[in-house]
Amino acid sequence: MADIKINNMVKFYTLCLLATGQKHGYDLIKELEEKLGRRISASNMYPFLNTLRKNRLIKFGKIGKRDKKVYHLTQKGKNFTGQMFSKFGDLINIAISPRISACPCGCKIYSGGHAEKIRGKAMKFCCTHCAKIYKSKNKLK
Ligand SMILES: [Zn+2]
Repeated sequence: MADIKINNMVKFYTLCLLATGQKHGYDLIKELEEKLGRRISASNMYPFLNTLRKNRLIKFGKIGKRDKKVYHLTQKGKNFTGQMFSKFGDLINIAISPRISACPCGCKIYSGGHAEKIRGKAMKFCCTHCAKIYKSKNKLK
């Protein structure tokens, strides 16, 4: 994995946007401003794009007469963003896991589900069907 630290939202979103397809530097900045709700200057952006290019994660081509650069991910860049997404996916799992409960069937319940008090104990199931099975297995009515 390339030695690039994704330690701020500008870098993270830049890679997210490039993962959706090729972008002009100008469009990248515009979209970042929209997502982050603040001004992004070219000096926030271009050193990072250069780092990506030096590490062969992106390439740029020129389109049109006015020498507009279009950035796109290389295969190495696609692998890198893939790893980045799975790393952040783990973080998201950690963030939401306290809010997840497990149904006796093995389902994980993030929201909704079916709550029932059984022998004075609040239980959570993914559905009423699981609650019924649980009660019949444990000979509870
Ligand atoms: Zn269930």
